[in-house]
Amino acid sequence: MSISPELVSRIVRQTVQEVVARRPEEPGRAAPAPGGRDGGGIFATMDDAVEAADRAWRQYLDCSMRDRRCYVQTIRDVCSDDAALRRMSEAAVEETGMGDARDKCLKNRAAALDTPGVEDIVTEAWSGDDGLTTIEFSPFGVIGAITPTTNPTETVINNSIGMLAAGNAVVFSPHPRATRITHWLIRRINAALAEAGAPANLITTVERPSIENTNAMMAHPAVRLLVATGGPGIVRSVLSSGKKAIGAGAGNPPAVVDATADIPQAAEDIVDGASFDNNLPCTAEKEVIAVDSITDLLKFEMLKHGAVEVRDPAVIERLASFVAKDGHAVASWVGKPATALAAEAGLSVPDGTRLLIAEVPFEHTFVQTELMMPILGIVRVKDVDEAIDKAVEAEHGNRHTAVMHSLDVRALTRMGKRIQTTIFVKNGPSYNGIGIGGEGHATFTIAGPTGEGLTSARNFARRRRCVLKGGLSVR
Ligand code: NAD
Repeated sequence: MSISPELVSRIVRQTVQEVVARRPEEPGRAAPAPGGRDGGGIFATMDDAVEAADRAWRQYLDCSMRDRRCYVQTIRDVCSDDAALRRMSEAAVEETGMGDARDKCLKNRAAALDTPGVEDIVTEAWSGDDGLTTIEFSPFGVIGAITPTTNPTETVINNSIGMLAAGNAVVFSPHPRATRITHWLIRRINAALAEAGAPANLITTVERPSIENTNAMMAHPAVRLLVATGGPGIVRSVLSSGKKAIGAGAGNPPAVVDATADIPQAAEDIVDGASFDNNLPCTAEKEVIAVDSITDLLKFEMLKHGAVEVRDPAVIERLASFVAKDGHAVASWVGKPATALAAEAGLSVPDGTRLLIAEVPFEHTFVQTELMMPILGIVRVKDVDEAIDKAVEAEHGNRHTAVMHSLDVRALTRMGKRIQTTIFVKNGPSYNGIGIGGEGHATFTIAGPTGEGLTSARNFARRRRCVLKGGLSVR
C-alpha cells in the first residue's frame, strides 16, 4: 500500500500541533491560547470552565476504579519529580512574593505523595437475613475549589488528588496573585492525565481569576460542592451560598510551653515551625505563651536555632507599625523573610536569621494578629493554667491549630479540651500536624469551621446507600 506525501505531511503537522499543545509551559511565562482548546483546562469564562468540567465528570463516571487509581498516581508522579517541585516552588515564591522555595518543595512533595487517594473511600456493608446493604462514597460531580495565595500549588495538588480520587471533576478559582503558577500546574496535570487516557478537563480554571469569577463559580448550578481554603471572607461567602460547602479558614496558632517541657527541644521545634515557609502555613506557630520560670531559658535556646530577639521597644513598635494595619496583616509583608523584615525596621541581623522573636504584652499585635510572617510574639505568664487560658483567647475561637510543649499529661489533656482546635500538636513543630514529619496523611485544606477537619477524598464524596433485599449474605 502506498501512502501519499500529503497524508504523511498532514499526520506530521497534526502530531506536532498536539505535542506543542500538550506541552506544559514554563512557570512564569504568559499562558498560550486561552479557552481550553489545547486541553490545558484554562478557559476564557467561568461558565466555560464549569461546563467543560461537567462534561468531563460525566465521562469520568464511566471510568473504572482502576482508572481512577491510575489518574491519581499520574498526578502524584507529575507533581513530585524533583525538577517540577523545584520549578513550581521557586515560581510560586516569585509570583506571590511570599514564602521560601525550599520549604515549599517539602510542602508540595507532601501534597503529591501523602494525600490519600482512592483507598480513602472505603465501602461499609451490612449483611444479614434481609440481604445486603452497602454505603458507598459517591462523587458530588463538579466541585468548585477556591485556593489561597499562601499555598497556591500545594492546595491545587492536594485538592486535585482528593477530589478526583472521590470521582469528581474540579474547577479551581485561584487567588489572582497566583494565576501564572496555578495555570502552569493545571496545564501540567491535564497534559499528564491526557497521556494516561483520562477525560479532558477533569481540572479546569479561568484565564483571569477574580472575585467576580469566584462568585460566578459559586452561583453556577453545575457546581455541587464548594471548598474554600482561605481567610474569613471567602469562608463566609461559601457558607452563605446556599450550597453544600467546606470552609477551611484562618488560624492564629498559639504554642504553650510549661515548666515540665524539654526546653531545648521546644525551642528548636518552635523556631522550625514558626519559620517554616516564612510562617505562611495557617498551622504555623503565631505566638508563644510561656510560663515565667522557663521563659528566659526558652528564648536563650531559640537563639541557637536562628532566632533573633528584638528587645528595643522602639524597634518592636517600628516593626508593628508596618506589618499590620487595623488588626490585619499587611499583604505586602506576608511571607517575607525575617532578614527583610528586620532591614525595614532598621535592625541589623546576621545572614541566615530565620525568625524574629519579641517579648510583648498579651494584647500586642504580634500575639493577636494572624501575621503569617516570621515574627513571633512571646507572652510570659505565671503558670500553666494562665498559659492555657491565654492560648484559648489568642486562638480567637478559630478552632484551627494549637501546639503545646509539656511532659505533664494532665496539662496536655486540659489544653486539648479547652482549646478545641482541629489540630493539636504536642511536643513537636506545628507542621507535624499536617503530615510533614508527623504521623497521618497530608492535607492543605483544614476545615475547622465546618468540621471535616483534615480533608481527604471521603470529605469530597456523598454517602449513598444501596440495598439488595433477601440475598448475598453467606454468613
Ligand atoms: P484570602 O482569603 O485573601 O484568599 C483566599 C481565596 O479566596 C483567594 O482565591 C481569593 O481570591 C478568594 N477570595 C477572598 N475573598 C473573596 C471574596 N470576598 N469573594 C470571592 N473570592 C474571594 O486568603 P489568602 O491571603 O490567599 O490566604 C491566607 C488565609 O487563608 C489565611 O487566613 C490562612 O489562615 C488561610 N488558610 C487556611 C487554610 C486552611 O486549611 N484552613 C489553608 C491555607 C490558608
